[in-house]
Amino acid sequence: MIGILSDSHDNLTRVREAVRLFNDAGCDLVIHAGDFVAPFAVEELRNLKAPVKAVYGNCDGERAGLARAFQGIGEIGDAPLAFVHAGLRFVVCHLDSAGALLAARKAGDIVVFGHSHRALVESRDGVLVVNPGETGGWLRGKSTVALLDPAGRTAEIVTL
Ligand code: MN
Repeated sequence: MIGILSDSHDNLTRVREAVRLFNDAGCDLVIHAGDFVAPFAVEELRNLKAPVKAVYGNCDGERAGLARAFQGIGEIGDAPLAFVHAGLRFVVCHLDSAGALLAARKAGDIVVFGHSHRALVESRDGVLVVNPGETGGWLRGKSTVALLDPAGRTAEIVTL
């Protein structure tokens, strides 16, 4: 199982809940699609039993601090971040517009993005498109993440 979150926007309580959920689900990888905001929020991810792959969002101004916080947790870099996991090609970006473009170009088997704070799981021409929605919950009052099953190539949105 793969845990996906995005747009946590400093909400430590919700990040803690996401960490617990991902650990309980036995996730072997966690993806964050950007907008942590402050580096201190990354520290919570240290409690994960899985490594994290993440991209910077438009609100992630403290890049050096975030990169430092990520040491020993996983990797964070500029979008798009591409990698192979469980035999599937993943592409992670932050902006939903970029995500739509990458999906249309079939840049990966799975395209993950955030930014719009709207949860979305959709198959587009064989590409699984996932936006976990906002983990922070500040904008829409609802905190969500996604759980992705690579074997079934399916994902579900989970409300925290
Ligand atoms: Mn954003």
